[in-house]
Amino acid sequence: MGHCYTARSLSSSSIQRVFDTRQRPLRNLRISVTDRCNLRCGYCMPEDEYIWLPRSEALSFEELTRLVGAFTLLGVHKLRLTGGEPLLRRELSRLVRSLSENERLEDIAMTTNGVLLEEHAGELLDAGLKRVTVSLDSLKRERFMRLTRRDSLDAVLRGLESLAELGFEKTKIDAVVMRGINDDELVPLLEHGKRVGAEVRFIEYMDVGGATNWSMERVVSRREIIDQLTDHYGELESTGERNSAPADRYRLPDGTLFGVISSTTEPFCSACDRARLTADGMLYLCLYAKQGKDLRAPLRAGASEEELAALISEGWALREDRGAELRLKEEQRSALLGKEELRADPRLEMHTRGG
Ligand code: SAM
Ligand code: SF4
Repeated sequence: MGHCYTARSLSSSSIQRVFDTRQRPLRNLRISVTDRCNLRCGYCMPEDEYIWLPRSEALSFEELTRLVGAFTLLGVHKLRLTGGEPLLRRELSRLVRSLSENERLEDIAMTTNGVLLEEHAGELLDAGLKRVTVSLDSLKRERFMRLTRRDSLDAVLRGLESLAELGFEKTKIDAVVMRGINDDELVPLLEHGKRVGAEVRFIEYMDVGGATNWSMERVVSRREIIDQLTDHYGELESTGERNSAPADRYRLPDGTLFGVISSTTEPFCSACDRARLTADGMLYLCLYAKQGKDLRAPLRAGASEEELAALISEGWALREDRGAELRLKEEQRSALLGKEELRADPRLEMHTRGG
């Protein structure tokens, strides 16, 4: 069967690294395995209703595995499963098992809200999942409920605890810090991280698609986070690492490490090596990008891994995106997108393209 998009295909199965117009390599892929979610975090899904991707359009595990194979031909070696809530995708461990057969992948991680984690962590570990990041913004039950519109804090805490018991290492807790909402919980979250053996990362509230209630006043900057923690713990030591990982890391006087992700006030676009894939196979090269590239059509038309890799490579080579840096230049910064725009293209939502 012929297809018109195969003008060029990568000839061998050896890795052919690809760089964008700013000399950034493609190394990292985040897959949103479903756009559905069982929480309604105010900074991500504040609305009462959403337009969902049709289930029939979601890529199957076999299709995802083939597509990931193509990405790894271009140098992708780190993969993160996200969503929506990835644990709502049925039999996720089957996908992990099939992905972990790809020897070019050094790391398969997952970002989850943790609600269903206790139930699934064991099978995911067996299947080859290496690391888990749990999003957790408050340890107070009432506040957690206000933030997420669900009474699920206990389940999340149990899920988090189960990780160390099972033997997961390098667990992280990601907390979005918002002024007047949870900025009094930095110390309790760090202390909780110590108890469960997880490294906490504080994330600046971002004006991404879907964050329709975003305002600059609500953003607590990296500077403020560091100042607050220095007041409490004393001098913090910066680890000085600067790689493609988005977090700046610090050490408390007792040696505990934590991170701050300052995507809003000090973005790190120049080091961004990530591509993002929606559950229905649209490729985005930036969290802020309005246009994506459809990989499902060629995939379903029978393109080989090499042919898919050539398509991805062509897109990456043209990449200019530095969405978060451009947002910095806005004088009157408010929510990136209005509700109408989001309804017209649900793939602009953070929960669809994967945070
Ligand atoms: N449902 C999973 C979870 O919450 O971990 C995975 C998907 S969620 C979109 C991934 C990450 O994006 C979460 O850590 C969440 O806190 C973060 N996120 C969502 N909206 C955000 C925003 N407006 N600013 C900063 N981080 C945000
Ligand atoms: Fe919250 Fe994650 Fe769901 Fe967004 S996708 S509402 S961040 S749990």
